[in-house]
Amino acid sequence: MIQKPKGTLDILPSETPLWHKIEDVVREVTDCYGFSEIKFPTFEQSGLFKRGVGGTTDIVQKEMFTLDDRDGNELCLRPEGTACVVRSIVENGLFNEPMPLRLYYLTNFFRYEKPQAGRSREFYQFGVEMFGTEKASADATVISIADTVLKRLGVNARLNLNSIGCKNCRPHYHAALVEYFSAHRDELCDTCKERLKTNPLRILDCKSPICGALCANAPKTVDHLCDDCRDHFASLGENLEAMHIEYSVNPRIVRGLDYYTRTVFEFISDDIGAQSTVCGGGRYDGLVKELDGPDLCGIGFGLGITRLVLALKKNAEKRGEALPESKKPLLYIAPMGDRAALFAQKTVFALREKGVFADCDITGRSLKAQMKYADKIGAQYCAVIGDNELDSGECELKNLRNGEKETVKIDTLGLLAPNGE
Ligand code: ATP
Ligand code: MG
Repeated sequence: MIQKPKGTLDILPSETPLWHKIEDVVREVTDCYGFSEIKFPTFEQSGLFKRGVGGTTDIVQKEMFTLDDRDGNELCLRPEGTACVVRSIVENGLFNEPMPLRLYYLTNFFRYEKPQAGRSREFYQFGVEMFGTEKASADATVISIADTVLKRLGVNARLNLNSIGCKNCRPHYHAALVEYFSAHRDELCDTCKERLKTNPLRILDCKSPICGALCANAPKTVDHLCDDCRDHFASLGENLEAMHIEYSVNPRIVRGLDYYTRTVFEFISDDIGAQSTVCGGGRYDGLVKELDGPDLCGIGFGLGITRLVLALKKNAEKRGEALPESKKPLLYIAPMGDRAALFAQKTVFALREKGVFADCDITGRSLKAQMKYADKIGAQYCAVIGDNELDSGECELKNLRNGEKETVKIDTLGLLAPNGE
């Protein structure tokens, strides 16, 4: 038996109704915020992520699925969406559209990671990107989209917020960090010893407990912000408070991608174990220019659907609620004989044409087996049609939910309305 590649997921029919519900909520919410969907290629030039995400990030150093095409180009499966969106707006001149430019995507990404619960090599994200406004009200608007989607789905998640400053104040903070960690160099894990040289900010993101203890006392970004960044962060807080969105400032949030400036945030859920970050995002004011576009600022997030599904399943279990199920047919026709089979085919076709989910036997199984099947698929009504019914023009329509029966004209079966009338 050939099995799926390590770290990939089959999302089976029993689970897709839950995915559809998430997608419905995402589209409902983004519609109200004026965001349009964008689609981009499954693979891009590797250079896009090396430049866009940053050469010293985990994504670029360890997690890209790269492939060489037959023309000698180095391509990779997209590991994240922001660089793809930025490439697309630069390439297609979308920066000429009225600002702010508001885009979202709902798609799969690929990272070569150690698979575990909530961490896979192929995973899905709902992502939002807004370009062309520097104001903190834009950051708050983007954050409120993630917050609304999570709340509307009933997921409990805490918003953690930080500001990592801009190109003016970051160097001062950098220097303070290097000074602090250099004094504790021997206590750092091997990766962080390396990060101290290449990207000291990333030490704050280290998951090892030894580094974690050191980070607790490390200098905080928020204490090293320039006046503009401090005002921006304060305004973000005010905007969130105006929308009654609760948050806490967490100085350790720096995010794993190099392109962030000022605002960074995560939504954390306590319901899904170790991989508890359902959503992460931030501001990336230098990225469009870095990728050969105009000097256009941006803010966005990626919300992990796979982790969201885990949280929703856990919630439903805790509350004793059923998960969304696939649609059930309104009518099932059980035909006996060839004439009846054709009548059944004609009738369910007429109903389907009207947008009603109807079903009939197409396997030739026994009447008993058909009745069992009608029950199993959760049909609301069932009609058994044989030569007698065809000759008399009448049949019995049984409501399988409450057992009630009524005699109806067989020609009216194809006229059933979606609510069963
Ligand atoms: P983590 O620290 O958990 O690796 P990250 O910082 O790499 O996350 P982002 O690149 O910001 O994550 O992606 C945003 C969201 O996408 C994450 O919060 C998570 O919900 C989801 N996500 C990221 N990587 C994976 C993965 N390998 N499997 C499942 N979901 C993922
Ligand atoms: Mg990661």
